[in-house]
Amino acid sequence: MRFSRNYFILSKLGIVGFMVIGFISSLMAQEISLLPKEIISAIINEISGEKALQAEIMLAPFERIRKSEEFTNQFWESTYIMKKAQEYGLEEVQLHTFPSKRPLWQPIEGELWLIEPKKKKIADIHEIAAVLATESQSAEVSAEVIYMEHASDENDYRGKDVKGKIILTTDPVSSVQQIGVLEKGALGVISSINNSPELPSDVVHWQSSNIAQKGEPPLFGFSISNRQLKEMKRLLQDHGQLKVRVKIKAKFHEGREEVVSAIIPGTDLKEETFVLVAHLFEGISKQGANDNNSGSACILEVGRCLVQLIKKGIVPPPRRTILFLWVPEISGSIKYLEKFPEVARSLIGGINMDVVGENLFKTNAPFHIYRTPHSLPGYLNDVAENIYNFTVNTNRTTTGYKPSQTITSPSGSRQNFLCWMDDFDSGSDNEVFVNRQIGVPMIYFNVHLDNWIHTNRDSPELSDPTQLKRAGFMGAAITLIVAGAKEEEALKICAESFFRGCSRLALCQQKAHNFLALSTTDQIHQAYKKAHNLVTQRFDLEIRGLSSCLTLAPANKSVVNYVNDGEKTLLHKKQLAIEKLEKYYHTLCKLKGVSPLPIQQTPKERELSTLIPEVVTKEVSPPLNRVSRGLAISDIYYGDFEVFNFIDGKRSILEIGRAVDAEYFDEGGVPLQYVEEFIRALEKAGLVKIHK
Ligand SMILES: [Zn+2]
Repeated sequence: MRFSRNYFILSKLGIVGFMVIGFISSLMAQEISLLPKEIISAIINEISGEKALQAEIMLAPFERIRKSEEFTNQFWESTYIMKKAQEYGLEEVQLHTFPSKRPLWQPIEGELWLIEPKKKKIADIHEIAAVLATESQSAEVSAEVIYMEHASDENDYRGKDVKGKIILTTDPVSSVQQIGVLEKGALGVISSINNSPELPSDVVHWQSSNIAQKGEPPLFGFSISNRQLKEMKRLLQDHGQLKVRVKIKAKFHEGREEVVSAIIPGTDLKEETFVLVAHLFEGISKQGANDNNSGSACILEVGRCLVQLIKKGIVPPPRRTILFLWVPEISGSIKYLEKFPEVARSLIGGINMDVVGENLFKTNAPFHIYRTPHSLPGYLNDVAENIYNFTVNTNRTTTGYKPSQTITSPSGSRQNFLCWMDDFDSGSDNEVFVNRQIGVPMIYFNVHLDNWIHTNRDSPELSDPTQLKRAGFMGAAITLIVAGAKEEEALKICAESFFRGCSRLALCQQKAHNFLALSTTDQIHQAYKKAHNLVTQRFDLEIRGLSSCLTLAPANKSVVNYVNDGEKTLLHKKQLAIEKLEKYYHTLCKLKGVSPLPIQQTPKERELSTLIPEVVTKEVSPPLNRVSRGLAISDIYYGDFEVFNFIDGKRSILEIGRAVDAEYFDEGGVPLQYVEEFIRALEKAGLVKIHK
């Protein structure tokens, strides 16, 4: 804007020329981050989106049927990552093999043929691996097809005879098997579940089959595209009858999971660890390029980049050890942390990369950096946000703004970086680490929502080396800051955390005031109580966040003083904020002609303020959703997780309820009875003890 307006005036004066050039260069942005400019520049020049994409392509050029030796020896991905990690100079590159209850499924043949009214091959696993539902069992049958749009509910079968037939449906294979095959006697399932308007009709989704128990017939299913479904429906309509032939040969091997680990050793604080994790497997059949060979390739590239920067003397070796983990999603993280409790104890923070390589504009999905949950706030979010701001600003142009250095890859896209820093989300490995049982702050890089993942089209053609370079840059920068932080940097991070906290608190107060102003006369007292809780909880959150900076320099006087001072300031600001909100409430009451009421505890709140839950299980990842199933808390996204995470043996049920109510304020909050009901269920399940 500034540029356009000045340009207009200058051109009117007839002095556009070299003056304008000078003017442009004065507008070249000087983005400031937590790292010195030279280091930032060195990372940008070293980290390679092309190399990351090459690794991604080597890991999953296309989804293939694995060779026999992978089932008995070692998976291709583990072998490749280990080889590259060694070649790149990462140390202590190790393979950890864990037994698994889930057997390994090896498909050998999987064909689906139309045989009547005409002969035509519909699906073959050696063309598209996703066509056969994983864990499908060997079968060789010819049968009539019956079309049922839905076939997962008893009611869907009213007046229909599916016995001896194969069900063609838009419901998932596994749920149709439960009733259609096991109860109603159908032979198998052909399913098309592409219901995303974003996807073309030829996409095939990965699906899974149930494994037959003793005495049950073999279970199998095929996953077909929407186009194929339509074709089969049309044929069925035109000819009245369809017959297909199924040929499946599959083997089961003993269950096994592989985790690869490697490190860049720390120096004076080597017993502290910063971890980068990416799932290399999500089952062994689906081998999605973006989900998640992109994350696996990206943390490998971060490792290569950091080793190079250290070797070239651009950065010193990190004070803290940097650990790289390539895991089977979630289960691998759990097994690794169970096996190495001393590593779990040494962790001070980390990054999870899961789905990071897409071309954001092809997939129509933005990049996200997800914060840690409110139960585990901290400086890591602020370090990440600092680098996030830098990366977004460095990769956007407006009329009057030209970044000093963009982050793009030679063969990659040139688009602005569409990235959001967002509240906690998971469904990936970070949930294992941020769970209070491990309690490690971990941020999460993820492109959401890419509709192509979990389909046969999650391939490198959708990936973008520019995107991988940006993800790698952010990963490397954040890792360097945290793993390398000396006392001086810790102080810088304290200030970053404090001021970012202040700006978040200002926005939170604005929200609380708006919320109150929008409430109706009969809601205003309740709204005031809720807004008051929001402000109170958010101040407590920021105070806890600021004190997390002590992790980086627990004994340093300047850091300790800064944190103590910051806490005092925040407590003072909290008092002022509460007074301001109260005044606002009184003014609104006056305008509405009602009398303000003091905030009072209900009898239930009083009761719950005396009950202190304590976690008694030692499990790394307790089965929370088994406990919350059917309870109201399961309606709140990650609500059970957060309630459990807030339990620290000091907070009362009321305090936990208030904390999650504020955390979920934007979603309407969490009723206290949900929290109480769930904590009592946790006690019943033996995971928690409630003290009076
Ligand atoms: Zn994933």
